[in-house]
Amino acid sequence: MAIFRLLIILTVAYTSLSQSIIQISTEKQTLLASDGISDHPKIPNDLYCESWRFTVETNDAGIWAQVPARCEGFVKDYMTGDKYQSDSEAVADNSLAYAKTVELHGDGKDAWIFDVDETLLSNIPYYVRHGFGSEIFDEVSFDNWVDMAEAPAIPASLRLYEELLELGFTIILLTGRTEFQRNATARNLEYAGYSNWERLILRHNSDHGKSATIYKSERRKQLEDEGYKIHGNSGDQWSDLTGFAVAKRSFKLPNPMYVIA
Ligand SMILES: [Mg+2]
Repeated sequence: MAIFRLLIILTVAYTSLSQSIIQISTEKQTLLASDGISDHPKIPNDLYCESWRFTVETNDAGIWAQVPARCEGFVKDYMTGDKYQSDSEAVADNSLAYAKTVELHGDGKDAWIFDVDETLLSNIPYYVRHGFGSEIFDEVSFDNWVDMAEAPAIPASLRLYEELLELGFTIILLTGRTEFQRNATARNLEYAGYSNWERLILRHNSDHGKSATIYKSERRKQLEDEGYKIHGNSGDQWSDLTGFAVAKRSFKLPNPMYVIA
């Protein structure tokens, strides 16, 4: 009986302690409660924008239209500074560590899928002139930029790409760009240093109106039906990675500039 009483006392004490540890101030709860990423001015910009970026990268934010005006400078600093490079390198390191554990069948069907924009190629030179995602997306000006075929590689992704080829993976590129952009896209990839991909898959007319998640899932399913084993998939959007026929491992690259459903 004494032991039972002691257990109750300890349980009550532990519960009180746990609550005191995780409690945050009532004021902060109010500031953050209304929409999860409240733009209450009392929260300093850096803290607010860091939390905003977290919700974006984890997909907690869901679909959003543009970078909050007060975070334009934060996103610019992130994308053009060391942090984006460092985060991209960390993703490439994790991807490679996994890739080295994969037992390849050696039949040419061991596939690794890459998205293109903000995965292999960086559109920072475009977004420098368009507010780093704080402006509403303008398809015409972006298509003109794609036609120029001058997007540089994301260095960490180029390193991963080359190492995967070396390991014996078959590289398949699956992009939301459309068929009319095939030549410019291939030209840009080569300009950035990429080569030896097995296939470059772009949206057909029949994909018009499909969400990226459905379009990319359907294409992955077709690859599986052809006998490919999709060991890995790299993309900057959750819609690159989720849906059906998903890869054994998916790797999310950072992108706080825009979201594609
Ligand atoms: Mg992308």
